[in-house]
Amino acid sequence: MIHEIFPVGVLQCNCSVVGDEQTREAMVIDPGDEIDHILEIVQKHGLKVTQIVITHAHIDHVGGAMKLKQATGAPILLNQNDYALLKMLDMQAAWIGMQTPGAVTIDQSVSTGAKIAAGNIVADVLHTPGHTEGSICLYFEADKKLIAGDTLFAGSIGRTDLPGGSYEKIMRSLHGPVMALPDETIVVPGHGPLTTIGEERECNPFLIAG
Ligand SMILES: [Zn+2]
Repeated sequence: MIHEIFPVGVLQCNCSVVGDEQTREAMVIDPGDEIDHILEIVQKHGLKVTQIVITHAHIDHVGGAMKLKQATGAPILLNQNDYALLKMLDMQAAWIGMQTPGAVTIDQSVSTGAKIAAGNIVADVLHTPGHTEGSICLYFEADKKLIAGDTLFAGSIGRTDLPGGSYEKIMRSLHGPVMALPDETIVVPGHGPLTTIGEERECNPFLIAG
């Protein structure tokens, strides 16, 4: 599978372009900003975007979604438990001193059990509340890769002090579906460097059994 990971915007959210080498269909995960750059990468690989997936409704992850939808016609997918946060984008923009992207409309809610496909590439959705109520992770089983949003970072976990955050819930999500994945799973966090489930199981101070 084609997988390009690159930070976008002032908060350097990791955006992913995941494409099928055969069908050239692709999904873009967390187009927070810099849509022109994202479209350049899509074009470089000769891909057609068929899905826009948002791991959670924080502005640095969702800010460019409508612009990308306008350019590609692809639907936007987000878990419905983050719809309330999505209505607060103007406030979120003010917090970080960013221009408001305007209203974002969601085409489909996705939760645990849903599969998102781009050509022959399939991601399982894991609903992992805690950083926000509607946070999701995407697991690409065939490639043993997890796109974790702001739920899990290399050596850390997502903050839970923002509206909709819950430390208890993020710990339940991590110790439930996330850490159930195989050690060799490559983790692509919402910010910062890549890691693996095994590395985090062994070294992440929030996950080491105390
Ligand atoms: Zn976030």
